[in-house]
Amino acid sequence: MSGTPIQYRDGRWIVPDTPIIPFIEGDGTGPDIWRASRRVFDAAVRKTSGGKRAVEWREVVAGEKAFKATGNWLPEETLDVIRAHRVAIKGPLTTPVGGGIRSLNVALRQLLELYACVRPVRWFKGVPAPVKEPGKLNVMIYRENIEDVYAGIEFQAESKEANDLIARLEALGKKVRAGSAIGIKPMSRFGSQRLVVKAIRYAIDAGRPSVTLVHKGNIMKFTEGAFRDWGYEVAKSQFGDRTIAEADMGQGTGDGERVIIKDRIADSMFQQLLLRPAEYSVLATPNLNGDYLSDACAAQVGGLGLAPGGNVGDGYAVYEATHGTAPKYAGLDKINPGSVILSGAMMFEELGWSEVSRAIIAGIEGAIAAGHVTYDLARQMPGATEVSTSTFADAIIEHLA
Ligand code: NAP
Repeated sequence: MSGTPIQYRDGRWIVPDTPIIPFIEGDGTGPDIWRASRRVFDAAVRKTSGGKRAVEWREVVAGEKAFKATGNWLPEETLDVIRAHRVAIKGPLTTPVGGGIRSLNVALRQLLELYACVRPVRWFKGVPAPVKEPGKLNVMIYRENIEDVYAGIEFQAESKEANDLIARLEALGKKVRAGSAIGIKPMSRFGSQRLVVKAIRYAIDAGRPSVTLVHKGNIMKFTEGAFRDWGYEVAKSQFGDRTIAEADMGQGTGDGERVIIKDRIADSMFQQLLLRPAEYSVLATPNLNGDYLSDACAAQVGGLGLAPGGNVGDGYAVYEATHGTAPKYAGLDKINPGSVILSGAMMFEELGWSEVSRAIIAGIEGAIAAGHVTYDLARQMPGATEVSTSTFADAIIEHLA
């Protein structure tokens, strides 16, 4: 079968039966993980479509592999191919030591306006976790991916720029200790609202009960506090009949039809997710809050080995492992491929191939339930059998729904 590019028109993906999807296998353990993941994806697509559909995977290079082949850590061609095909998936990449090297993640985020970092966090039955009831946490985190500290501007303490700014701030009536470093975090109504819109739209489509705006508005009123206010504003203006603000519900628990929009201060959110996880469903956060929360939530349900992620914009998306290259296990067929496999499940869901996504998730649940898991899980699961990366993929394929 020869592939056809995915298109995007009027806010919708147009996905052919044989889409071309570029992939970056990644450095270190990346090739082990990619080999296993690709087999799972192909088997799930084949099984759910009766052989009618197939992905044409197109390799593009970045990181060490690109550097060895081209002398460039991030060839322009890689960016061009991803842009032309709109949706891509990647393994982890080595971050080169030394300055002046462009990060692929940053380049893609900026080039394709991937303004939402999306991280689903849920527990898989049987996975060891540090809390008593990990199954109560099931959240979809929408984290703003371009503004806030990602657009942060910093000046070193005692630099001319920092001192000039301090003088300027003093002229505006703000006192800053002499010799301070200065950091600026820009956040806009436009950037905040398009993120919140994505989160609400997802909640409506997926039948999720609530969207919680997470912010530090008690301290930073015009950035974090504005994120909260802009969030409520856009919920009302764009989804007035499909949402209700928590504050407008009185003592009620919602009518089950409208998505409840609530907000929590970031520090309290960490507490709430540990103590009352079942009360939260979709979280919409500025960049830095979401960074901390995503990893804390992943840890709560058993760690990063099974935590997928996607960077999504309008008509472009790149899915990726959330862990690094784990170089000490490279080539050993040992590492857990779950993060890339679940990122692929997210990708198929986004493209409307929900049955593929469901099949993959059932496959992972089945493999874990059967106790055939990679070393990272096996070492904490009494009675489990440690299997290789490739055998874990076999077990997932065996349990595809
Ligand atoms: P790391 O590669 O994530 O590995 C740290 C440890 O986490 C591993 O030694 C292993 O723990 C565990 N781990 C990671 N992935 C796992 C998996 N799939 N299955 C099971 N266990 C897993 O972090 P790092 O050593 O700090 O970073 C290595 C390189 O990756 C660096 O160059 C870094 O910059 C890069 N990095 C890339 C990305 C990305 O591309 N998105 C993200 C983070 C880091 P045990 O030793 O306990 O088994």
